[in-house]
Amino acid sequence: MTAAMWPAGVVARYPTAGGATVDLSMYLVVELSDDPIGVIAACTGCAARCVGHYYRSLVVEGAPCGTESREPAVVLAEVRDWAQDHAATCETDPVPGGVR
Ligand SMILES: [Zn+2]
Repeated sequence: MTAAMWPAGVVARYPTAGGATVDLSMYLVVELSDDPIGVIAACTGCAARCVGHYYRSLVVEGAPCGTESREPAVVLAEVRDWAQDHAATCETDPVPGGVR
């Protein structure tokens, strides 16, 4: 699948062991600003998510998955690491149309 066929906003995509993907996108709150306020990695198989907020700590479904950081490059690296780790281990079948 090419980048042109990815869901809107997805900037990176990691295939999982089970055939789903972990999608990386920038966290936008358009009511506030056009600038991203963080990074989100979302698995299209099991719906696990990692949200890296530039102004808060990193959270996976209520549990911390990284250290607090305000540096966007550091937040992106942490979320990308989570996405790659999750993609390597998640064996959930892909959900048709993806999980939203
Ligand atoms: Zn998963």
